[in-house]
Amino acid sequence: MATDTATAEPQAVDKAAILARYREERDKRIRPDGNEQYLELKGQLAHYAEDPYVPRKEREPLTDHVTVAFVGGGFSGLATGARLKEAGIDDIRIVEKGGDFGGTWYWNRYPGAQCDTASMIYMPLLEETGHMPSEKYVHAPEIFDHCRRIGEHYGLYEHALFHTRIERLEWDGELSRWTIETDRGDKFTAQYVALGTGPLHVPKLPGIPGIGDFAGHSFHTSRWDYAYTGGDERGAPLDRLGDKRVAIIGTGATSVQVVPHLARACKELYVVQRTPSSVDVRANEPIDPDWFEEISTPGWQTRWLDNFTGNQGLGFATEDLVKDGWTDLAHRIRSRIADLPPEKRTPENMLAAWEDADIEKMEEIRARAGEIVKDGETAEKLQAWYRQLCKRPCFHDEYLQAFNTPGTHLIDTDGRGVERITAKGFVVGGREYEVDCIVYASGFEVGTSLERRMGFDPVGRDGQTLSQAWEDGMRTKHGIHVHGFPNLFLVQATQGANLISNYPHNLVDSAKTIATMIAHAEETGADEIEVTQEAQTKWVELLMTGPGMLIGTPDCTPGYYNNEGHPTEQAKYAVGYPAGAQAYFKYIEDWRTNGRFEGVEFR
Ligand code: NDP
Repeated sequence: MATDTATAEPQAVDKAAILARYREERDKRIRPDGNEQYLELKGQLAHYAEDPYVPRKEREPLTDHVTVAFVGGGFSGLATGARLKEAGIDDIRIVEKGGDFGGTWYWNRYPGAQCDTASMIYMPLLEETGHMPSEKYVHAPEIFDHCRRIGEHYGLYEHALFHTRIERLEWDGELSRWTIETDRGDKFTAQYVALGTGPLHVPKLPGIPGIGDFAGHSFHTSRWDYAYTGGDERGAPLDRLGDKRVAIIGTGATSVQVVPHLARACKELYVVQRTPSSVDVRANEPIDPDWFEEISTPGWQTRWLDNFTGNQGLGFATEDLVKDGWTDLAHRIRSRIADLPPEKRTPENMLAAWEDADIEKMEEIRARAGEIVKDGETAEKLQAWYRQLCKRPCFHDEYLQAFNTPGTHLIDTDGRGVERITAKGFVVGGREYEVDCIVYASGFEVGTSLERRMGFDPVGRDGQTLSQAWEDGMRTKHGIHVHGFPNLFLVQATQGANLISNYPHNLVDSAKTIATMIAHAEETGADEIEVTQEAQTKWVELLMTGPGMLIGTPDCTPGYYNNEGHPTEQAKYAVGYPAGAQAYFKYIEDWRTNGRFEGVEFR
């Protein structure tokens, strides 16, 4: 299972020149309209968000009561549902806007979709469901199937509502329960509600002038149109593109996975780039069943999760089970810090060690583009000039290679983006490129209002909405509880472990905490669970003592990590436990099992 990431000897680099280039590239990309540059998929653009996969089924509205309602049928809902079932809570209603479970993996069926974090730790509940991932980084259909497997295994389909959006969620203080209204005319109540709506689920389009004028075919990557392209999500070739000129706009993590498939299939492919992604070695490989059998002794997945997280922090893990690009960067930082004499391990020196390790890594990744891409100018334009964690790091062994395919063209916009969309195609550098199809790999809304992304704004005690409670920034305890919102739980990473490299770890851990608390309330006959104001304030104060965000800092190239280069005052609350993810998971394990539930009242 060993994987080699590039491991060249450190070379003498002109650090000042590199940092100056980073700033220059960033400055070029800062736009005054920041996050406002993107278009919401409504009105004439609403069709881009329609579900092309599963037809909507009519059903009668519901007016009943459940113990737990869960908003979102992705990993959060599935993991929390599973833990609740294990804790003996049976009536769990997952409400999901898609036509099945899966969340991200329901929507993202584009060719080449694959997890970027090793399957052994990325896929939740592998041990419980007895599934062996087929590859180190499995492809999307296997993850989607796994989501359905969890749903079946834990009986979560029974009460689930698909193609259903919450429109109103309001706390009823007299009855100590939540009232839920949906776009299907449902009006039911739930003792507890948990929100697992995911950070990236509302597709957005680039605000390019003339976007509505295009007369050809177009779609967003999260709504892939196989009827147009041919092929299927399981890897069948896109056989209807052989005579087509296609543009893909955007070169983020999605595009990196799609481009090799389009390059193979299209007559002409234009990859339109504003900012290159950093694309490191993938080194995917099948998982050997004999090896899996050997390592999958009871508790194996927890051990792997702990090991990966341990390898991310600044602790000194002795073994690296996953061995990939994520742990590689952490190792480089750690070994530089280890080289410092103890008295020199100051925050400044540690930050400098991190920066040096990052520069070394990014130099290797930039060199990789030069080694793989035959055309020198194209290779140069594919080099990413920012710190690795300024944008989502990518890993792929066919993306850069795709630019050697005849008919595949990189259209670099030098940080400016597409000038215009016309009836016939797109314009960059004053030149119009005529195409039959435009694929928007333009990502998802981040940093727009909570209400806009979720479609509702929870109304807590005394009519206060969650947006009002968070007007000055997010306030929670453990990233799970919000004062003024009894019996409401959030399932997400911020203000908890905030482990970005393996997002599902945050979710499966919160699932355990929430199930433990609900089971405790049910056993003790409590009607309400709520964090005290004091405990929440103290938690947020503790978070503020940490180093803040290492990613998304203002001097990074713009992107959704740093609100397009315009960080807000509220963003400073988007942090995790000061001592790091591994320490958080240890802390919370004790918190939820010691029986005291400090800071939270059961009434
Ligand atoms: P991103 O937001 O990362 O990328 C959007 C792309 O569109 C960027 O390249 C952006 O350029 C470009 N763009 C935006 N506006 C314009 C414009 N006007 N002209 C030209 N280009 C433009 O979206 P993705 O869907 O790629 O990824 C979103 C996130 O989803 C990832 O960061 C990752 O967290 C997750 N993901 C995870 C995967 C996995 O785990 N396997 C796979 C895919 C995605 P610029 O960079 O300059 O803003």
